[in-house]
Amino acid sequence: MAEKKIIIAIDGHSSCGKSTMSKSLAQMLGYIYIDSGAMYRVVTLVALRKGLMPNGEPDVAKIIPELKNIKITFQWDETQGKNTTFFNGENVEEEIRQLKVSQNVSPISTIAEVRHEMVKQQRENGLTKGIVMDGRDIGTVVFPDAELKIFMTASPKIRAQRRFDELKEKGQNVDFDEILQNVEGRDKIDSNRAVSPLKRADDALILDNSNLTREEQLKWTVEKVKEITSGR
Ligand code: C5P
Repeated sequence: MAEKKIIIAIDGHSSCGKSTMSKSLAQMLGYIYIDSGAMYRVVTLVALRKGLMPNGEPDVAKIIPELKNIKITFQWDETQGKNTTFFNGENVEEEIRQLKVSQNVSPISTIAEVRHEMVKQQRENGLTKGIVMDGRDIGTVVFPDAELKIFMTASPKIRAQRRFDELKEKGQNVDFDEILQNVEGRDKIDSNRAVSPLKRADDALILDNSNLTREEQLKWTVEKVKEITSGR
């Protein structure tokens, strides 16, 4: 009998390693990986390019009609465990990770119409099970019936340090305090917005990885998947 395939929802705070863990997990299980945060980042990039974020405030009336022109796709390189994000066929993976986008994405993701469109696209991806999706509202809104829900977190300082190291490694000139401010600011907006705020689903397992290595987190999660797929 073919092994049971499930939906795995991984939510949590900014920069706590959700996507790194989700990618490794998907690769290990042979599942599809969807980075829902990348989708909100693409909408933000479009708004920035079109000058629809004057003074950091989204021009909601002009952003909404743009949504129908935004097609987001992913290309997953299984051998490298690498995910690339495309906006209307253009590779925007590098650009959507820049601090400028990170600084503007949370206000964009508070817009109800933006969320509605992204959730619709995310659900389409889950039609065939065998998917790992990470974000802020995957276990609460996108897939409330997901078989496995994990809520990841770590202290803000640790998260900022990890993001700082990552951007430095990519050769970007970054300031630690600015990153810490961004991490804390995004937590605040994400947790307090009216539509689909970041919160742990009642049935989500908590994974605080402040003192865990990537390998330890992955091992813990794979164990949880096995418990479900083997009916233990
Ligand atoms: O996961 P990542 O940090 O790339 O997400 C960027 C931003 O997108 C988050 O800070 C949050 O504002 C928004 N987001 C969201 N819902 C999701 C995923 C991301 O609101 N499911």
